[in-house]
Amino acid sequence: MTTEQDQFSRDLLAWYDANKRDLPWRRLGHDPYAVWVSEIMLQQTTVAAVIPFYHKWMARFPAVQALADAPLDDVLKHWAGLGYYARAWNLHKGAQVVMAEFGGQVPPDPKTLLSLPGIGRYTAGAILSIAFNQDAPILDANVIRVLSRVHAVTGDPKSTQTQSELWRLAEEAIPNGRAGDFNQALMELGALVCEAGAPRCGTCPVSAECRAKALGEPTTFPQFSSVKKWLDVEDVSVALRDPQRPGETLIVQRSPDLPLWGGLWEMPRGTRQDGETLEACAARAVCESAGVRVRGLRPFGVVKHVVANRRITLHGFEAEFDGLVSESVRHAWVSAASRTDYALATPQVKLSELLWRHDAQGRLEL
Ligand code: SF4
Repeated sequence: MTTEQDQFSRDLLAWYDANKRDLPWRRLGHDPYAVWVSEIMLQQTTVAAVIPFYHKWMARFPAVQALADAPLDDVLKHWAGLGYYARAWNLHKGAQVVMAEFGGQVPPDPKTLLSLPGIGRYTAGAILSIAFNQDAPILDANVIRVLSRVHAVTGDPKSTQTQSELWRLAEEAIPNGRAGDFNQALMELGALVCEAGAPRCGTCPVSAECRAKALGEPTTFPQFSSVKKWLDVEDVSVALRDPQRPGETLIVQRSPDLPLWGGLWEMPRGTRQDGETLEACAARAVCESAGVRVRGLRPFGVVKHVVANRRITLHGFEAEFDGLVSESVRHAWVSAASRTDYALATPQVKLSELLWRHDAQGRLEL
């Protein structure tokens, strides 16, 4: 480590010691399971959004065994609303592997950690450094931003070459014996001070070592070259009505192995194809996902949702239906109250709230 890096690490740690936030997963000290859960939840999700989910999760699954033993439905229900459900799947599968192969102990070595589902180099580094205080680096969006600015790193952080350089810088800066605190300090600085659009260089504890600040252009780093490509999608979901079941609607469970919202519940849904009307899409969606025909389709509302690179417009229809729901489809009839017993993806939660709000206002004829 150079003298400059040494000064950077000392300034950053001194600031962290005085300013770190009191976050619930930090209260559990070095519990590897708590670190694992929190780091997975924090991927692509803000701290504020994660906190209530983390409390709910840890109350229901306080240790690896509780998670491994839980049915997948229960796991997904506790994740519902956080998005990117593959994370919950992988945590569940990972906990089962840890129980079956490692006696319930999260393994403290990088190679084994990396073999667990959903654990990449970043999460392994976080667990090793925070829970086991090993000198393992981390590199997430906050750390990339801080290191790119402090070292004025040129090149797209998504390129292999620049990534390697950033991993090297992250590793070299780790001070002896304080890897966990140092890595958390880097993330904390990125979240609270070195923000993407408006870095607070005037109050930054490492401003003296920051090359981007010295150049007078901190926001030109990191130098991402590509602009996100959006995929605009139009989905249709149908609230099926049965006169024998007033106030209820049908939901079906998606196959657990589907990449998007696998294992979650939804009102029969389809994606509009080129040249297809919304009504035709609605009828097809119900036929494909529940095996029944519908009549009297009527729109009741629209919600918007963004997941990964998909900008989804979800159109809600309601309809009566003919026939019986196929026995091979896992389904349930739910009311405004009982729907919370099922894990619904966020756009489905938004749409069902709209549906029952309309019902409560008496605007829809059942
Ligand atoms: Fe970020 Fe500014 Fe601090 Fe540099 S001086 S690390 S750009 S906040």
